[in-house]
Amino acid sequence: MKKPRLGSEPPSAIRRSPYGLFCLAQNQWGQELMLFSRRNGEPARVLITGGMGFIGSQLAEAYLEQGHCVSVVDDLSTGRFENIRHLIGRPGFRFAVEDVANEVVLDRLASESDLIFHLAAVVGVQLIVDSPMNTIHANVGGTEAVLKAALRYHCKVLITSSSEVYGKNEAVPFSEDSDIVMGPSTTNRWAYAASKVIDEFLGLAYCREKGLPVVVVRLFNTVGPRQSGQYGMVVPRFVEQALSGESLTVYGDGKQSRCFTHVKDVLRALMLLMDAPGTEGQVFNVGSNEEITILDLAHRVVGLVEARDKRLGESPLNDSLPAGALVPIAGSGDGRIRTLSYEEAYHSTSFEDMRRRIPSIDKIRRYTHWTPTLSLDDIINDVLDEYAKRNLVFSDQKAGLVASPKYSAVESRNVMQAVSSQRGQRGTTVGCTIGGTIPEGRPRGGVDHRPGRYDDA
Ligand code: UDP
Repeated sequence: MKKPRLGSEPPSAIRRSPYGLFCLAQNQWGQELMLFSRRNGEPARVLITGGMGFIGSQLAEAYLEQGHCVSVVDDLSTGRFENIRHLIGRPGFRFAVEDVANEVVLDRLASESDLIFHLAAVVGVQLIVDSPMNTIHANVGGTEAVLKAALRYHCKVLITSSSEVYGKNEAVPFSEDSDIVMGPSTTNRWAYAASKVIDEFLGLAYCREKGLPVVVVRLFNTVGPRQSGQYGMVVPRFVEQALSGESLTVYGDGKQSRCFTHVKDVLRALMLLMDAPGTEGQVFNVGSNEEITILDLAHRVVGLVEARDKRLGESPLNDSLPAGALVPIAGSGDGRIRTLSYEEAYHSTSFEDMRRRIPSIDKIRRYTHWTPTLSLDDIINDVLDEYAKRNLVFSDQKAGLVASPKYSAVESRNVMQAVSSQRGQRGTTVGCTIGGTIPEGRPRGGVDHRPGRYDDA
């Protein structure tokens, strides 16, 4: 007899776990698939790798807001402890400062999770160009570790991939089944795209061969508050340069284009894709299709900063701003923008850039009705607001009023340990302190936390 197909027929069996129901259905390759579904009103337990990064930390907030339990794990390579500091002490929030490749820690966290968002990765063009070995190890090794742990505990996984996988394909807009066109392996940049493609293959293979529910998401340039411009990421870089009175550095001829998506829209997409039926074993583009060249972007940032300075200049509050809070832009227009060759920018003679990158978002629309709601101006203004606020904090900090918003990994570890011992830490696993609180009343018994074991209720 023909087995039911995912999304079209009722599940073939229902498996109970202490934390929810797992429905067994069949995926498009005929494999049995475990679909997680919450009991009515039951909070989900969400694990976010890379959860101290700019997307992960805001995803954690969004799930906590909805009353779910959230654990984050991050090695602080590019994430910042400051991004989750305000969540410490919130019921249901936990954190671990650790590499996702630490199997002991990951096993413990996965054993207590229903849903895993795998965001941990080496990101930022500068980091990738500088360190392809670390990029490959961290991205591929991290994804494999997450998938193995998810399989042991029947978690549903969402893997974040990247629009980089489309590489040099110029046939925009890209749909999920468009060709992947990569440059030579002697060009470091392609190490990132290749590592993300392997991540995708691996996730889809776990779905196909093991029945693990895995959703793959290709993020197009995501921007918003908390994003650092330190390793690439053109919008925060331009905003920072504009606010500090420096010239905006446009690489190449500036005619390359991108589509920028607000992190808030991206969070909504990730949550919808995790929940929507039939997304398992599938790849989805998440991005806006408002295209702009990088040169036009630079002009747009300059224009918005000038408009903001003008507004603040007219504001009676301006007098009370601490010195240095906002550095007004001196001059305007082209004088504020300078071009740099890729060689000067990335110190590499073989750097290759993508000329255009536009997603087709038909597929995600079909499955979830998602569409971006925030414009490029909204994005730039939000980043501007955040940088202006941060500058205010820096000014207060100079006056000794608040702690530094930027911690090194070592400082963050110290802060985390101090906080977790104050708040009552839940336990210590090899090489890592897991801090935070899990509310009472969640069923915890009955689960065997040893790798490879799972207890049906
Ligand atoms: N870029 C730039 N100036 C900068 C940083 C980046 O002109 O200070 C360009 C970069 O060469 C690319 C685009 O902006 O063409 C987007 O770069 P980003 O690093 O944000 O992301 P990418 O889309 O390259 O992954």
